[in-house]
Amino acid sequence: MEVKVPVMKMNDGNTIPQFGFGVYCIEDHDECVKYVLEALKNGYRHIDTAQIYKNEQAVGEAIKKSGIPREEIYITTKVWIDNFGIDETKKSVEDSLKKLDLEYIDLVLLHYNLKDYTSAWKSLETLKEEGKIKSIGISNFEIKDIMKILDICKYKPVVNQIECNPYISQDKLRSFCHENDILVEAWGPLGHGNQKLINNSLIDKLSNKYNKTTVQIILRWHIQKNNIVFPKSIDEKHIKENIDIFDFNISEDDMKLIDNLNKNKSIYPLPSFTKKFVFPIIFKIQ
Ligand code: NAD
Repeated sequence: MEVKVPVMKMNDGNTIPQFGFGVYCIEDHDECVKYVLEALKNGYRHIDTAQIYKNEQAVGEAIKKSGIPREEIYITTKVWIDNFGIDETKKSVEDSLKKLDLEYIDLVLLHYNLKDYTSAWKSLETLKEEGKIKSIGISNFEIKDIMKILDICKYKPVVNQIECNPYISQDKLRSFCHENDILVEAWGPLGHGNQKLINNSLIDKLSNKYNKTTVQIILRWHIQKNNIVFPKSIDEKHIKENIDIFDFNISEDDMKLIDNLNKNKSIYPLPSFTKKFVFPIIFKIQ
C-alpha cells in the first residue's frame, strides 16, 4: 500500500519521512518482526528503534523479509548512555549495524543528555564522515545541553527527539530547536497510550467533526505542528488507522483549541532532577 507521507529536509541536506513506526517495548523478537512487517505492508517507511529496546535484530530481519529496497526505508537507532565516549560510541554503533544487518544507518541519536555526551557526539561525527551513519541527532536534550553541543560540534544535530503530545507541547524547547534549524521528533505522541488524552472531550468533539478517530486527530495535530512522529502499536487495526491521517486538515482555530490542552505534564510525573536519574533506570527494566 502506498501512502503519501511528507518528507522533511534536515540541516545536513538529507530528508526524513515525517511519519513512521516506533518499536519501544516490543521486545519479543517474533512479535517485533511481525509488527514491523505489518507497518511496512501498510506504507510505513520509517522505523524508530534504539539499542536499549533490544529489538534492532528483529527490525533488521523485518526489513530483509519485506523485500522493500533498503534505500526506501528510513532507520533510526539510538546510543544508550552507558556507551557514551569516543571508543564506546563507535563500538556501540558498529554493534547496532551488525544487529540491524545494514551497511549504514540513516539516523543515530544520543538517547539522553547524561554522562559524557560531548565525546559521544564527536564519535558520531566521525562515524558520519566514514559513511556508517547518514545523519546524527540527539534525544531528550534540554536547551542548555543543545547549546553545549552547538559549541563543540562540527555538524549540528539534525533532530532532537523529545516527549511531546497535546498535554506536554514543549513550546519553548520546540521553538529553540526550530530557531537553530533542528527538527523536532515527538516521542510518546499519544502519551504512551494515555487514555485521558485519547478520550479527552475536546479531541472527541473534533473526532466527530472531522470524521476521524481521536488518535488520528492527535497525530494530525503533530503533523501540522511540524513534529516528526512514529506512534507505536501492536494492533493491526491501529497500525492501519494511525497512518491514515494524510487526507484531511485541522483548521487553525481547532489547532489552537488543541494547543490550549497543554499542561506541560510529562507521562512520567517526576521532578526533572529525579527524572534524569530515575527515567533511565525505568527504561532499562521495562
Ligand atoms: P505512543 O505515544 O506512540 O503510544 C503507543 C500506545 O498508544 C500503544 O501502545 C497503544 O496502547 C496506544 N495506541 C496506538 N495506536 C492507537 C490507536 N489507533 N487507538 C488507540 N490506542 C492506540 O507511545 P510510545 O511507544 O512511548 O512512543 C512512540 C515511539 O517513540 C516509541 O515506540 C519509540 O520509538 C519512541 N520513544 C522514544 C523515547 C526517547 O527517550 N527517545 C521514549 C519513548 C518513546
